[in-house]
Amino acid sequence: MRSAACVDLDAIRDNVAVLTERAGRAQVMAVVKADGYGHGLLPSARAAVRGGATWLGVAFLEEALAVRAAGLDTPVLAWLFTPSEDLAPAVAAGVDLGVYDLAELGRAQAAAEQTGRVARLHLKADTGLSRGGAPRDLWPELCQAAAKAEAEGSVRVTGLWSHFAFADGGPDHPVNNRQTAVFAEALDVATAQGLQPEVRHLANSAATLTAPATHYDLVRPGLAVYGLSPVPQLGSPRDFGLRPAMTLRSRVALTKRVPEGSGVSYLHRYVTSCETTLALIPMGYGDGIPRAATNAAEVLLAGRRRRIAGTVSMDQFVVDVGDDEVFADDEVVLFGSGDAGEPTAEDWARAVGTIDYEIVTRVGGRVPREYVGGDA
Ligand SMILES: *Cc1c(COP(=O)(O)O)cnc(C)c1O
Repeated sequence: MRSAACVDLDAIRDNVAVLTERAGRAQVMAVVKADGYGHGLLPSARAAVRGGATWLGVAFLEEALAVRAAGLDTPVLAWLFTPSEDLAPAVAAGVDLGVYDLAELGRAQAAAEQTGRVARLHLKADTGLSRGGAPRDLWPELCQAAAKAEAEGSVRVTGLWSHFAFADGGPDHPVNNRQTAVFAEALDVATAQGLQPEVRHLANSAATLTAPATHYDLVRPGLAVYGLSPVPQLGSPRDFGLRPAMTLRSRVALTKRVPEGSGVSYLHRYVTSCETTLALIPMGYGDGIPRAATNAAEVLLAGRRRRIAGTVSMDQFVVDVGDDEVFADDEVVLFGSGDAGEPTAEDWARAVGTIDYEIVTRVGGRVPREYVGGDA
């Protein structure tokens, strides 16, 4: 194979087992949105369930329906949709829905009536992220209306939840502390309205690993499921007992000797400083390799880390290997666990000015996924 994102399903399973341990009495919802952060929705979901996840989390309805269509009956929460999307198939499939306002509540009730199924809802409080969720002044009326709908039998409020703004802020970030306090108030308001959810949940990966006081009944780790550290300044994956699940590799398509002063790739943003060997790697931004990796990110090739030479183009980039013996078809590792000396997704993130979430998630649909471990 030319290029592949190799995903170790046993790593995902083991990472979830570590998170389950960390969560103590709380359950674990493995977040598998965005094609399992690029690792593959269904294989990741199955591996996470094997590791002890009792819930799955996704952003969109079709992601939840794909989980159900594959025969997975684990509770799954979908939290982002627009008014034109039909909630009935999700309600019929027993998908839990994140609800932010009265309009969504009404549409969930209608879907329940249409399908003859009780709609399972998680009311979301906006505790300070100002993204989804009901703001503080509208939270009481949302709880009241949901309690009324529950009494009428069309819905069941299975969850109350919120989401942190500073994922990498560490356990003592003042905004996270403020949000935790606002969430506690929101729970009190909901309780006063008679709501008795199965699960109250707030913690992302970082809070799961570093802030036990925020675990409540359920934690929602995403990044850590895939073995990456959400708080690199506080610890590496290994420090948290996690193992990166994805290795992105390719093969050298061509090598050639070029003279000193050769401009390399578009705009000649790299110029050889002496006669040297160039190796051509058949991956580019069409595969999710950031163009910002130009002259910045490193790869492991022929036993050494080497920086990308010149502009990353749509399908290819070049590496200057000097006088080393490098041949067409040699393997190149862009990133992986780091155990064999290759860069990590975190290294790539630092090199291109983003976060490792984006590095793994953007690995494109053109790159085949190869699975090892589990029932691969
Ligand atoms: C993506 C997401 C998560 C997971 O966040 P991580 O930082 O990857 O652990 C949890 N909850 C919500 C609402 C999300 O959108």
